Amino acid sequence: MSIVVENVTKIYGTQRALDHVSFSVEPGEIVGLLGPNGAGKSTMMKIITCFIPQNEGDVTVCGFNVKENPLDVKRCIGYLPEQNPLYFEMYVREYLEFIGQLHKIPNFNKKTIDTIIERTGLELEQKKKIGALSKGYKQRVGLAQALIHDPEVLILDEPTTGLDPNQIVDIRELIVDLGRKKTVILSTHIMQEVEAICNRSIIINKGKIVADAPTSELSSLIGNSSILTVEFNAIVPKNKLLGIKGVVDAEKVSEKIWQLTTTHEDIRQRVFDFAVQEHIAVLSMNIEKRKLEEVFHSLTK
Ligand code: ADP
Ligand code: MG
Repeated sequence: MSIVVENVTKIYGTQRALDHVSFSVEPGEIVGLLGPNGAGKSTMMKIITCFIPQNEGDVTVCGFNVKENPLDVKRCIGYLPEQNPLYFEMYVREYLEFIGQLHKIPNFNKKTIDTIIERTGLELEQKKKIGALSKGYKQRVGLAQALIHDPEVLILDEPTTGLDPNQIVDIRELIVDLGRKKTVILSTHIMQEVEAICNRSIIINKGKIVADAPTSELSSLIGNSSILTVEFNAIVPKNKLLGIKGVVDAEKVSEKIWQLTTTHEDIRQRVFDFAVQEHIAVLSMNIEKRKLEEVFHSLTK
């Protein structure tokens, strides 16, 4: 395993930013951490990269524990933070040289920088000051900085936020390319981003994981998911509805009308059987197919 996160909780003051989060990432995976603003994505990444400590739980990266061996962890991680902090007064090459020296890379030389510059498509911009670059190229410098010590794992916090559509396509292509040889976790609040880049999606909301599945499965699962609106002739408690196989959520519309979220199954027969068993009647049932975005919305509202 490249990354193992076990039962991690992070509390800021009185706020639980992460609540018993567990997942693991295998070498070579590109995993998307997907969730709305404030979900806890950056917090998770800062813990994995040893920038802040968790209150509870364990994290290991390439076999090293973040609390016991932070230097070893940092050595195998390249990190692009959310705000991509750069020294605008520095020249691109000068900055990368500076970062390379910070990492104390063995045999670090001009060639190492040339390779990184080529890898991140910075050839034409390499002699400019960072402050003079477009946002897309600043992001490439951020990626170059994360890659300079050839880490096994890349942690990219909202790498395409604030870029224009062309820059987004370029950076996504670059990440997919980098992901061929490295383990990547990237965060985003955009559904299409995980569909475009990630093999696997972990949806996080209010500090909790609400879904973790291969992206292809997630979209087919979610694509087929539906909302079943049922009207009964009596009041039914929510926990009983959640007991019906295939029901993942139940939302009350009025006293006797419920909206049941289902995955990929048609559960109408089961709802009917349930009503019979409860000695109540089903007055109406209506299925609506749901779009990917709506399911993300309902999982994270
Ligand atoms: P995301 O990256 O998914 O937008 P964050 O991890 O940045 O979410 O934040 C998760 C929650 O923790 C938010 O409600 C945020 O306000 C809170 N938070 C983040 N950093 C701090 C901090 N240093 N002090 C207090 N609260 C924080
Ligand atoms: Mg964030």
